[in-house]
Amino acid sequence: MFRDIRKKITLFNTLILIAFLILFIVLLCVVVQWSLSTSGESYLKNVAASVESGNLQSQNEGFLSTTVHEQMGYEYIEWDDKGSVVSQQISNSDLISEGYSLLADSDGTDRYETLKIGDRDYRLYTTAFDKDGKTLTLQVFQDTTTENSVISYIISYLLMIGAAGLLLLIPLSWFLAGRSLRPIRENFELQKKFIADASHELRTPITVIQTNVEVLKMKEDEHISDNMEWLSNIDNECDTMGTLISELLTTAQNEKPEKKEERLRFSMTDLCVETVELMRPLAREKDIRLESAVASGITYFGNPGKIRQLLRIFLDNALKYTPAGGLVVLGLSENKRSIVIKFSDNGLGIPEKDQQKIFSRFYRVDDARSRATGGTGLGLNIADSIVRNSGGKIKLDSEPGKGSCFTVLLPKNANQKI
Ligand code: ADP
Repeated sequence: MFRDIRKKITLFNTLILIAFLILFIVLLCVVVQWSLSTSGESYLKNVAASVESGNLQSQNEGFLSTTVHEQMGYEYIEWDDKGSVVSQQISNSDLISEGYSLLADSDGTDRYETLKIGDRDYRLYTTAFDKDGKTLTLQVFQDTTTENSVISYIISYLLMIGAAGLLLLIPLSWFLAGRSLRPIRENFELQKKFIADASHELRTPITVIQTNVEVLKMKEDEHISDNMEWLSNIDNECDTMGTLISELLTTAQNEKPEKKEERLRFSMTDLCVETVELMRPLAREKDIRLESAVASGITYFGNPGKIRQLLRIFLDNALKYTPAGGLVVLGLSENKRSIVIKFSDNGLGIPEKDQQKIFSRFYRVDDARSRATGGTGLGLNIADSIVRNSGGKIKLDSEPGKGSCFTVLLPKNANQKI
């Protein structure tokens, strides 16, 4: 798919370049030809005036410098009204017969024309004037063969340079199209992986539900109360799927925030205390001591909903991965630049090699254990994007068997980054 798009972009760029090249050549030719013919005509007119006055030295400067035309030179024939040559200055004798045949068309008004005599091109100016009581017709010729071949040379050289340029630019355009498509491709691959991982994660609970339903079908004659085990398995898996789906939605929203999230100043101290109290029944149920070391009077400018979600993810993990009898502590303090939230536990700990990876989507250190505790592998990824979107960062100190300490640093100044 990306190869096709790349080909199309390269083709499109090449076509645009060709169109520009042709336009440039056509414009250049039109301008050069127009200015040469205007200045040529004015040069011939000046020559005619000089011939009429008998002073051939006094040709004026034309529109374009007449030097070009002076170098090309001129030839002229002066005819009387009977068609006899009065005076002439020609190097090509064919001009006489050609000039004579053109006399018939002359109606006494000044006119310019171009003609081909033999294999040579000419520009011709015809004018009539009175001299010694006679009406004379003057034809001034300029050989434009060189002028035309110079224009043809320019066109062919420009075409050759343009073609060579295109040959160089096509691979360059191919390369640049590849470079500009790279981030889109990477994003696309990430999305594909995300969808594949999400489908895989959803398939597991569905398989468990299907298996339990099959078991229940075989026990259709039995009482529901005798089969609560299968029903509670289905119930648990439905819960897992529900959590997974809402976390998938959160992940997608965090990735591309549709609208700018609402921010306000709120008491971080109160939020931490509230969240700890909310988690206390769960800690009690798991026989884990949950303590808080929350400094008073700390406020924060941000989205309270997101920060609440962040606190719950870390506390939930700490309670999930700490065995009964363990200790979980939530600490809140502040320094000059940031607000510091610490989640410490003396639970399982995280091996060094996994410490970076646990923030990736769907990564779990112990897959089976995490699944058994209802883990989706998305929690820390969500927490990480909340912290990054707030300009903060997360530090982790952990040792397997001893416990973990996640430290979240949030900048006090909303526009700053840590
Ligand atoms: P899950 O939903 O599986 O908990 P998370 O993204 O929240 O997913 O966490 C990723 C993995 O990091 C977990 O599966 C677990 O292995 C590990 N982990 C997270 N927090 C802790 C912790 N406090 N102690 C030990 N391991 C943890």
